[in-house]
Amino acid sequence: MTKKCIIIGASHAAAQLTTSLRQGGWEGEILVIGDEPHLPYQRPPLSKAFLSGEKTAEDLVIRPATFYQKQDVQFRQDRVIEINREKQTVTLANGEELGYDKLALCMGSRVREINLPGCNLNGIHYLRNLADAESIKNNAAKDQHAVIVGGGYIGLETAASLRKLGMQVSVLEMEPRILKRVTAPEVSEFYHRLHTENGVQIINNISVSGFQGNSHVEKVVCADGSELPAHLVVIGVGVLPNTELAEASGLVVNNGIMVDEFCVTSDPNIVAAGDCTNKLSKIYDRRIRLESVPNATEQAKTAAASMCDSQKDFTTLPWFWSDQYELKLQIAGLSQGYDQIVVRGNRLTTQSFAVFYLKSGQLIAADCVNRPQEFLLSKKLIAENIAIPPEQLEDDSIPAKEILLRIAGKSGQLTFT
Ligand SMILES: Cc1cc2nc3c(=O)[nH]c(=O)nc-3n(C[C@H](O)[C@H](O)[C@H](O)COP(=O)(O)OP(=O)(O)OC[C@H]3O[C@@H](n4cnc5c(N)ncnc54)[C@H](O)[C@@H]3O)c2cc1C
Repeated sequence: MTKKCIIIGASHAAAQLTTSLRQGGWEGEILVIGDEPHLPYQRPPLSKAFLSGEKTAEDLVIRPATFYQKQDVQFRQDRVIEINREKQTVTLANGEELGYDKLALCMGSRVREINLPGCNLNGIHYLRNLADAESIKNNAAKDQHAVIVGGGYIGLETAASLRKLGMQVSVLEMEPRILKRVTAPEVSEFYHRLHTENGVQIINNISVSGFQGNSHVEKVVCADGSELPAHLVVIGVGVLPNTELAEASGLVVNNGIMVDEFCVTSDPNIVAAGDCTNKLSKIYDRRIRLESVPNATEQAKTAAASMCDSQKDFTTLPWFWSDQYELKLQIAGLSQGYDQIVVRGNRLTTQSFAVFYLKSGQLIAADCVNRPQEFLLSKKLIAENIAIPPEQLEDDSIPAKEILLRIAGKSGQLTFT
């Protein structure tokens, strides 16, 4: 009898999983159930090139319908409301039950919502999916005021895109600096200046207490009594993993669905991949839940291998990127816990530099602004645990490419004389 695999969620992790399953020799049925009315599409451009009008919805599709047809992958637009692990079934919103042999949880994450007076007024948006991005774009109007609540990457990318559309943009951040959770003060300062130079007003140490307007938002009101005019508000205060279905079915969940190194959950017939998982990072020696496309893709490859009964862990060093204005920030690794910072290049006079984060002398992360070679170098140094003296990381006269060539095939401490 043909085996049946059901994938819940139809986004980055699911798109990779279908391909990797066929490549791994899965001959049975593959059914992807996703609640958005689209084939899997790229989410990162929603705050970047799609919002600023440089890309269309068609450009975002990860693979065309013909690709999935050739792979014999079925899609169904619906919402799964229950998993019964004993019966090996999932229940759809209309009550229909579907049986599985293997189940993959690729439910991703959803935006964290804020509950403040006036938060349901028209013109107040979150940004997670294509429909959100389309409605922000439709609501954007040249010379009108946009207020972004939250100075994280998505908020700042949205600010840059709305500036490109000619809006007057303010970013409100409750912390003393933007990007505080993820970067060093040097990087926050750089992005603060970049946005200010591009006409964005950034206000730190401020918290929103509500919104005012008739049916449409007109003002954002802050706890210190200040008010900002607003025709459009975008709230970007983080995401929450979609774990409720897993938890209700009895799977082990703790800040994400707990998976082993092969992306198998506490039920051997169920794998999970992407934003909704919590997995041990061998490099950082702790469990982490990551929100990034590379993570979703790599975990999906790992999960597919497990479903095809071959145990392979494809996950590598975490990495991320952010596009704001004409700058590309590439981030290698996770900087939490650093005790030293080294800056290569001049972040005050140029738009090309790298900030290296070290812990006990070992590189653990790097933020590389328009520095692709430093990004590649950092990935290698961190993943392979190669130590380089900080003063040599800092020395911009040694090209990163040269260091990369010199360390090819080497490991451990490396010095340059
Ligand atoms: C605006 C924006 C910008 C971003 N920029 C970057 C970036 O620059 N770089 C980067 O690496 N990452 C970026 N990310 C994060 C990245 O998009 C996510 O990490 C990635 O989408 C995770 O993929 P996923 O497949 O795990 O989950 P998701 O993309 O969250 O997809 C999960 C899907 O499952 C569906 N679903 C959930 N529950 C059910 C259910 N019960 N039944 C049916 N369907 C269900 C959801 O509706 C969704 O369609 C960005 C995200 C956003 C929103």
